[in-house]
Amino acid sequence: MAIESINPANGKLLRRFDPLTDEALRQKLALAEEAFQVYATVPLGHRALCMRKLAAMLEHETEDLATTITQEMGKPLHAARQEVLKCAAVCRYYADNAARILASEAIPTGQNHSYVRWDPLGIVLAVMPWNFPFWQVFRFLAPALMAGNVGLLKHASNVPQCSIAIESLVRRAGFPRGTFQALLIQAKQVEAVLGDERIAAVTVTGSEAAGRAIAAQAGWLIKKSVLELGGSDPFIVMPSADLDEAVEVAVQARCINNGQSCIAAKRFIVADEIYDDFESRFVAGMEKMRVGDPMKENTDIGPLATRVIVEELEAQVKKAISAGARLLTGGERMLGSGNYFEPTVLAGVPRSCPVYREELFGPVAMLFRVSDLSHAIQVANDTPFGLSASAWTRDPSEQHRLVAKLQCGAVFLNAMVASDPRLPFGGIKRSGYGRELSAAGMREFLNAKTVVIASPTAPPDHDDRLDLLPFADPRHSD
Ligand code: NAP
Repeated sequence: MAIESINPANGKLLRRFDPLTDEALRQKLALAEEAFQVYATVPLGHRALCMRKLAAMLEHETEDLATTITQEMGKPLHAARQEVLKCAAVCRYYADNAARILASEAIPTGQNHSYVRWDPLGIVLAVMPWNFPFWQVFRFLAPALMAGNVGLLKHASNVPQCSIAIESLVRRAGFPRGTFQALLIQAKQVEAVLGDERIAAVTVTGSEAAGRAIAAQAGWLIKKSVLELGGSDPFIVMPSADLDEAVEVAVQARCINNGQSCIAAKRFIVADEIYDDFESRFVAGMEKMRVGDPMKENTDIGPLATRVIVEELEAQVKKAISAGARLLTGGERMLGSGNYFEPTVLAGVPRSCPVYREELFGPVAMLFRVSDLSHAIQVANDTPFGLSASAWTRDPSEQHRLVAKLQCGAVFLNAMVASDPRLPFGGIKRSGYGRELSAAGMREFLNAKTVVIASPTAPPDHDDRLDLLPFADPRHSD
């Protein structure tokens, strides 16, 4: 079956690609293996030079790259531009910080020398989703390549042009041939790639189903895996919160990326005392969102990425309503041939309804009324997911309890959850395991090699990979 790039705003076919044949795939694996042997010895200064050039290219080519993103998966063009610029920022972060993160750590043990040295693992397979088709890939590739690993990308089938564009950027930035290759393959071909003994590890960002299948195989093969899966993040609002700000951010947090973000707030858990006020203002805010052509600058919400996604979302909304949820606004598909869905608010989805425990991947919010903070925490944790949480309160004792008791990978107080290259990103429970970004993310695909040198005459270890070369600012060296 061909891999098709379809514009979700109008259903038109943009491009069609044949998946790689087994022979073409074999050649790419051989090239990756060859590249790793060379690339692992390339000094860090040279890698940083390429990484900075990559950042500069992302900045220079933002408009074209953002257009490709919007046309393939439907996010508003202004959001696509921000995504490309964030990729430049993560490249610069790792170019600036890799030497610190990769530096050997001396640990006094009574021996002459003892230390931990960080070695790359080899070829890492990245199985990625379409929702942030650049950012998800770059937050893997920037630390992986700075560490001396080599990447193979199996991107989501609906964003092949993004996949090709990223491979081209990496190559043009000066990274050696084969350091990062896009594999235009179908999901069913992943098993064979991961099964190849040259693949050292795998990272998956996507649904539970994909994570489960790939991690099961990785476990069987005893290969390292990192899983960044779904989320149904709570957004808790307590009486002491600044309600104006909380409502404004709540709408933004639900609708960001057309509602298709793993860390979008999806369940709004509001204290009884302020619930009615929050509900009416939140519904009004959702109704003000401008849904339409993602290429237009004033669009807030574009089409959902595929026909299947909009159909699944519609079915979930209908199921929740028939189980007893109140529909406060929206609930229907809109605007003809594109995959548009109305910003929707459901209140009181019953716990017995499966949708209560599912992720809603589109602009659909669930509201819950709670009696106090304990009740809020209980509802927030009553989910199979554990990605992140946003909580709004100015009461310090409530803040402490929320930070301690919420079961998730990140808690943001009086702020919207967002990823940041400097901070670890990832989840617990069925949101996955492992971390991306920061030092923690880079070390997921490194071997923490313990070295003990007992002999007092042993030469001190000098890790020449970490020598930094002097270099010019690549923004001026295209
Ligand atoms: P998906 O259907 O799981 O697809 C993700 C990737 O996995 C695609 O490349 C897909 O390929 C591949 N894939 C799917 N099933 C597979 C299988 N059985 N074996 C091997 N590969 C398989 O997820 P999605 O719909 O693209 O993305 C949405 C999900 O990702 C949401 O649940 C969202 O919350 C989650 N997500 C999580 C994070 C995070 O950081 N935690 C970030 C973004 C998104 P094909 O496209 O060819 O099927």
